[in-house]
Amino acid sequence: MKERVEIRSRFLFTRQLSKQNVKRLQEADHVPTGAFLAILRGNAMFADRAKIFIRSGKGGDGHCSFRRELYVANGGPDGGDGGRGGDLIFEVDSGLNTLSDFRHKRKYAAGDGQEGGKRRCHGKDGNDMILKVPEGTVIKEANSQKVIADMSGTNRRQVVLKGGKGGLGNQHFATATMQVPQYAQPGQPAKELEVCLELKVIADVGLVGFPNVGKSTLLSKVTNAEPKIANYHFTTLRPNLGVVDLEDGQGFVMADIPGLIEGASEGVGLGHEFLRHIERTKLMIHVVDIASTEGRDPVDDVYKIHAELEAYNSELAKREQVIAANKTDLIYPGDEDPVKRLKDEFEPKGIRVFPISGVSGKGIREMLYYVAERLRVIDTGPMIFEQEYFPEEELIYENLPYTVEKDGELYVVEGPKIEKMLGYTNLDSEKGFAFFQKFLSDTGILEELEQAGIQEGDTVKMYGLQFDYYK
Ligand code: GDP
Ligand code: MG
Repeated sequence: MKERVEIRSRFLFTRQLSKQNVKRLQEADHVPTGAFLAILRGNAMFADRAKIFIRSGKGGDGHCSFRRELYVANGGPDGGDGGRGGDLIFEVDSGLNTLSDFRHKRKYAAGDGQEGGKRRCHGKDGNDMILKVPEGTVIKEANSQKVIADMSGTNRRQVVLKGGKGGLGNQHFATATMQVPQYAQPGQPAKELEVCLELKVIADVGLVGFPNVGKSTLLSKVTNAEPKIANYHFTTLRPNLGVVDLEDGQGFVMADIPGLIEGASEGVGLGHEFLRHIERTKLMIHVVDIASTEGRDPVDDVYKIHAELEAYNSELAKREQVIAANKTDLIYPGDEDPVKRLKDEFEPKGIRVFPISGVSGKGIREMLYYVAERLRVIDTGPMIFEQEYFPEEELIYENLPYTVEKDGELYVVEGPKIEKMLGYTNLDSEKGFAFFQKFLSDTGILEELEQAGIQEGDTVKMYGLQFDYYK
C-alpha cells in the first residue's frame, strides 16, 4: 500500500513568475528570496561563473589658474577642484537569474572625474558604474580567489572599488608666504581589479549523490519543482530548487545538486561546476540507490561522495548529513537487507539512514521532518561568505615608490604610494584613520621617520596634510 505523503508544495519552476507571486515569495519568511527565483526563471543559458575587469573612476585633477580682472594686476589663485571619480558598485537584482550578461562584456569602468576649471569651477564627478547581479553572487579577487563581497542576505549593494578623490585646485594652496601657488593637486588614480563572479545557490538542504540514484525524483516529489527525470546520466545540468513546505510552517529550500561523480573535485566532467553550489547548504542528503539497480554499492557510494567533498573543501565534509536509502521498492525480498548494512555502517558515526522510495513516497515524510528538526538546531542564519580581500588595503602591498625626507623642520613623505593611499582613505572617519596608521607602520614609513631622527611633536607633511608625530 502506498503511504500518502502529506506535503504541501508549491509553485516554482514557472518560467514567468507574476509580480504578485514574486512579492508573496519575498514575504514568506522561510524562503530566502531572490536567489532561487532567479535561478528558476528564464530560459537563458545557465551561466554561474564569469571573470571580468572592473575599474573605478580617476579623480579629476585640481586646476591651476589666477584671477584675471580688468584693472587688477595680479589676481589670486582661483583654480577649482577636480571632480570625484565614480564608484564601482555591485547591486542585487532579484529579476536576474544568471551571470550570462557578464559573458558578453568583460570590462566595466566607472566614469572619471573632470578636471577643475578657472574661477573656482568644480570639475564634474564621474558617473558610478552599477553592476547588477543575481542574489547569491560571490565576488572574488581573481588571483588570490579571496572573497571581496557576497551579494546575499542583507547585502544588496556594495561599493567594491571607490572612485579616486578629485585633486584640490591651487586656490587652496595660497599661504602668507606663497601668494601665487603654481601647484594644484592631481586627482587620485583609478583602481583596477580582475574579479571572478560565482553564483552560489542559497538552499538549506542539498541533495548529493551519483547520477541516477533518484535525486531529481525526490525533489519533484516533495516540492513543486519540475526537474528533468530520466534514466541517463547528466540530465540535470543546473541546480534545481524547490520549497519543501511542511504543515506546521517548518519549510525549507531544497536543491538538487547534479553532476556529482567520482573525480568531481578534480574537475572531472561537469561535477566540479556544481560542487560550489553545495557550499551554502546547511545539511546534505546523500541519496543512494539501495537496490543497486545499476550495480552501485550504496556503502561505497557514500564514502566516495564523502571523499569528493573532502577533496573539494574539507569544511563541506564536516557538514551535517543524512542518508536517503532510495529505491526501497526495488529491493528483492530474501536478499541480505541492504538497508541494515547501510545503517550498521553509518548510524554509529552519527549519520541517520532513512529508507525511502522516491517513486511511491514511502518513508519520505519521516525523513523530511527529521531534516526540518535538525535545521532548527543547526540554523545559524544564512551562509554568508566573509570578506577576505579589501581592495583599499591592498595598497599596502602594492609596489609603488615613495620618499621620506627632512626639509628644515618638516619631515616630508611623498611619492605615488602615498598619493594613492591618501586618495582612497577618508581620514575624517575613524576607520579611515585607523587604516592610515596601519599603512604607515606596515609599509615601514614610521620606522624610516625614526631613522631620519623624528622626535615627539615634530611635524610630518604629506602633500596638503600635516600631522604632529607622537609615538
Ligand atoms: P538523478 O540522476 O539522481 O536525479 O536520478 P533521477 O531522479 O533522474 O532518477 C533516475 C531513474 O531512477 C529514473 O528512471 C527514476 O524514475 C528512477 N527512480 C528514482 N527514484 C526511484 C525509486 O524510488 N524507485 C524506483 N523504482 N525508481 C526510481
Ligand atoms: Mg537528476
